[in-house]
Amino acid sequence: MILVTGAAGYIGSHSAIDFIKSGYDVVILDNLSVGHIEIIDRIKTFAKSAKGNLVDFIKGDTRDTELLDKLFKTYKIDAVVHFAANSLVNESVTNPSKYYNNNVSGSISLLDAMVKNDVKKIVFSSTCATYGEPEYVPIDEKHPQRPVNPYGNSKLAIEFAIKDYAHAYGLKYMIFRYFNVIGADAEMVSGEWHDIETHLVPNILKADSDKVFNLFGTDYDTKDGTCVRDYIDVCDLARAHTMAFEYLQKNESTIINLGTGDGQSVKEIFSAVENSLNIKVPLKVCGRREGDPAKLIANNSKAREVLKWQAQTSLEDSVRNAANWENVLKTLQKARAEKQKEGANA
Ligand code: UDP
Repeated sequence: MILVTGAAGYIGSHSAIDFIKSGYDVVILDNLSVGHIEIIDRIKTFAKSAKGNLVDFIKGDTRDTELLDKLFKTYKIDAVVHFAANSLVNESVTNPSKYYNNNVSGSISLLDAMVKNDVKKIVFSSTCATYGEPEYVPIDEKHPQRPVNPYGNSKLAIEFAIKDYAHAYGLKYMIFRYFNVIGADAEMVSGEWHDIETHLVPNILKADSDKVFNLFGTDYDTKDGTCVRDYIDVCDLARAHTMAFEYLQKNESTIINLGTGDGQSVKEIFSAVENSLNIKVPLKVCGRREGDPAKLIANNSKAREVLKWQAQTSLEDSVRNAANWENVLKTLQKARAEKQKEGANA
């Protein structure tokens, strides 16, 4: 059985889906502070229709040591795949306490519970934000790590803790450093659902006549002046976690970048959305967004050579799935609003 923390969120849910597709039973731990109960319900329905795998959901926090102890005693956990975290860069700057508490303390408490209950494998969702302002691109795993915000610091602190725990207590780990994650599963079980949406693709898709898309910065030293990022499909990314669990059965701990190895500018992504969906998106060119590096591209040789993983989904397919998900999301949000209204009237 695999414990997936944070699987009510965007990336965690897709990882849970991939484990289910691969035939594993999954227990989800999520405090629903960022994630959504509707996503859990959809994962459960999907599991029933897919392979009939067991999917249990426990609402709770990674800092709740009693709950963790109970969880590890109830289920025979083969590995922990740890996503539960806050991930808004701006918020981390104004409220670092939230990031050190939820991300760092939560992870330490999880690691302690693993050690106590003899669970030996962890797959951890880290980020290219731990590299900070790049000294060179493509960025390999040996690139210096100098995060430029508390979010990146919190993820780097957890990386350190995992390595130290591995050394002292014999844990095995896979640390993944993600680049920019986009898309949704073709079955529309899950997708991006952030109460505050800051990401590029969903913001382009949400733009309409009332709400233009704001393009941040056209004066970067890049091919067309807009920022370049490495956009990886969420299902490709999720698959790497299942592969990591299988990898750790026979191999030693390691750290791997997950990206396509290719860079796209904001303008290119904007055009890809317009062209794939055959739509015109209202656009406003704005100044730079604070803290955006010009270019972030993964060197993904290690993912290809060590993990035997490679990105498979085309940008067009990712964009189309993301667009379809936006429609599902509207329905889910409407249903939730109606439920809340009924609750208020009752
Ligand atoms: N971006 C933009 N408008 C938006 C959201 C993002 O122009 O509404 C740009 C952003 O400035 C960056 C790129 O798109 O250059 C990717 O941003 P995102 O927030 O998706 O990911 P990040 O690289 O910041 O993690």
